[in-house]
Amino acid sequence: MSEVKTEEKVEKVEKTEKVEKAEKIITKKFRKPSKKKVCAFCVAGEKTIDYKDVAKIRKYITEKGKIVPRRQTGVCAYHQRELCSAIKRARNMALLPYVGD
Ligand SMILES: [Zn+2]
Repeated sequence: MSEVKTEEKVEKVEKTEKVEKAEKIITKKFRKPSKKKVCAFCVAGEKTIDYKDVAKIRKYITEKGKIVPRRQTGVCAYHQRELCSAIKRARNMALLPYVGD
C-alpha cells in the first residue's frame, strides 16, 4: 500500500512541475507591454545633434563602440538617423572610438 501511495505522490509532483512550466511559458508569451519610451531629443526639442557633444552621444553607443539600436533607446527614426551621422562624424574626428575595449 505504501508503495502505491508514493507512486501517486511522484505523479502529482510531476504534474505540478508540468503545470508550472506551462504557466511560465504562458507568462512569457503574454507579458505586460512595457512602458513606451520617448525620444530624448524630441523631448529636449533639438532638431540637430552636434557631433562635438560627446557626453550626450556616448549614451547611445555600447562599450564596444557600437551604435545602440532604436528599440532599446526609444529614439525616434529621425533622431536615430541624425544620431548615427553624428556618431560617425565624432568617430572620424577621433572624439569617439571605432572599436571600444
Ligand atoms: Zn526624436
